[in-house]
Amino acid sequence: MTDTIFAKIIRREIPADIVYEDDEILAFRDLNPQAPVHVLFIPKRAIASLEKAEPGDAELLGKLQLAAAAYARELGMAEDGFRTVINCNTHGGQTVYHLHVHLLAGRHMHWPPG
Ligand code: AMP
Repeated sequence: MTDTIFAKIIRREIPADIVYEDDEILAFRDLNPQAPVHVLFIPKRAIASLEKAEPGDAELLGKLQLAAAAYARELGMAEDGFRTVINCNTHGGQTVYHLHVHLLAGRHMHWPPG
């Protein structure tokens, strides 16, 4: 897998506004926020995209979602609601090929997405 900007953030080679970290997960604010809260939850063990995830990644994928929900709760934004999104490959709008969960919160979101 080729190196990505997120791998550089994990290695602290470029700065990021980190809001959460544990052994397996790093979370930092998106540079181009689409909501008052827009945080990216990434696995430290890189998986290029959801399409490349394997059965052995199931627990890690669940942990990313749970970490996002826990952070929304911590901010007091969980009851009003939030959205988690994984963009996959070109049609999904993925631009960084290191799997990540977007957490969007703090405004009313609409459906369907554009
Ligand atoms: P996606 O389009 O789903 O692959 O999402 C990639 C996200 O990464 C976009 O929302 C970008 O704004 C965000 N992004 C790109 N570079 C950085 C960076 N250095 N720090 C924080 N967020 C970034």
